[in-house]
Amino acid sequence: MPIKAANNILELIGNTPLVKCHKIAAHVKADIYLKLEYLNPGSSVKDRPALQIIRDAEESGLLKPGGTIVEATSGNTGMGLALAAANLGYKCIFVMPDKMSEEKIRSLRAVGARVVVCPTAVEPDDPRSYYKVAERLSIETPNAFLANQYHNASNPKAHVHSTGPELWEQTDGEIDVFVSSMGTGGTISGTGRYLKEKNPDVQIVGVDPIGSIYYDYFKTGRMTEAHTYLVEGFGEDFLPSTMHFDVVDEVIRVSDRECFEYTRRLVREEGILTGGSSGGALCAAIKYAERMDKHMNIVVIMCDSFSRYMSKIFDDEWMRENGLLGPDPNSDRVSDIL
Ligand code: PMP
Repeated sequence: MPIKAANNILELIGNTPLVKCHKIAAHVKADIYLKLEYLNPGSSVKDRPALQIIRDAEESGLLKPGGTIVEATSGNTGMGLALAAANLGYKCIFVMPDKMSEEKIRSLRAVGARVVVCPTAVEPDDPRSYYKVAERLSIETPNAFLANQYHNASNPKAHVHSTGPELWEQTDGEIDVFVSSMGTGGTISGTGRYLKEKNPDVQIVGVDPIGSIYYDYFKTGRMTEAHTYLVEGFGEDFLPSTMHFDVVDEVIRVSDRECFEYTRRLVREEGILTGGSSGGALCAAIKYAERMDKHMNIVVIMCDSFSRYMSKIFDDEWMRENGLLGPDPNSDRVSDIL
């Protein structure tokens, strides 16, 4: 039956499809299902928290008519906020680290946002860090609201209210493992909380890029020093309050090479047109499934779209320059795709 017309694009956020990963994961006993968040109107999972943050700020009076939304964003939250702002009559200023792809910056400017780019390789407390610059701009700009996705409870709440219930329904409650990359932690914390309330046995598995602090923090409770990595949108160098480790059962680490290899495979072998953090999440799900010798249903979040990475993951020259093409000298697997 054809879907009736929505009143505006914001009504089409969420209710994304779930599809089986039928080729790449054919060797494991588990069935791995992919939640296609890149099919949201802003092409990522972050449309959900962006709209929730705006709706909650309107309700509490923090965001007033004609106001300016300021945010530190790696791009996807910015797109969600910009879409909602365009529809609801707000202005946007986004502050991004300089490692982000040119496509992300251009597309945010295309939707009418002002984008400020800051250095990646500085401490979070440095006044030049993108977090601090966003804070300063939100104070200096009249009638501004700092969306603050790293410390805004509306972020995980969006997933308690939408992603979690959708997955429960789409799997008829037959979900054993949920795998998600962790940036702000909103997706894993909110979806994980909902799923565990429905069934405490559902295993919640977080994915962390090598260089981020989450893996070590989860294993030891200690903060280690972060170092830079190439994959975008997940991993952190500090602990956001939206990252709820109490719902996380396991954290699996992935390398840039693994993220990019699996992203390219998703695109070429399954037609799943997604970005680097999704490749990392699928790689982690396969590592998890390879250790299990019983059948289980695993769901993996496909966060954003491949179109944002044409000049990186899908550019052989860029991959070669970064030593990411050809056999991995540190791996016991020989890649047959790259
Ligand atoms: N992948 C990508 C590409 C992202 O942009 C983000 C959000 N920064 C994530 C994963 C992680 O999502 P969350 O912030 O909900 O942990």
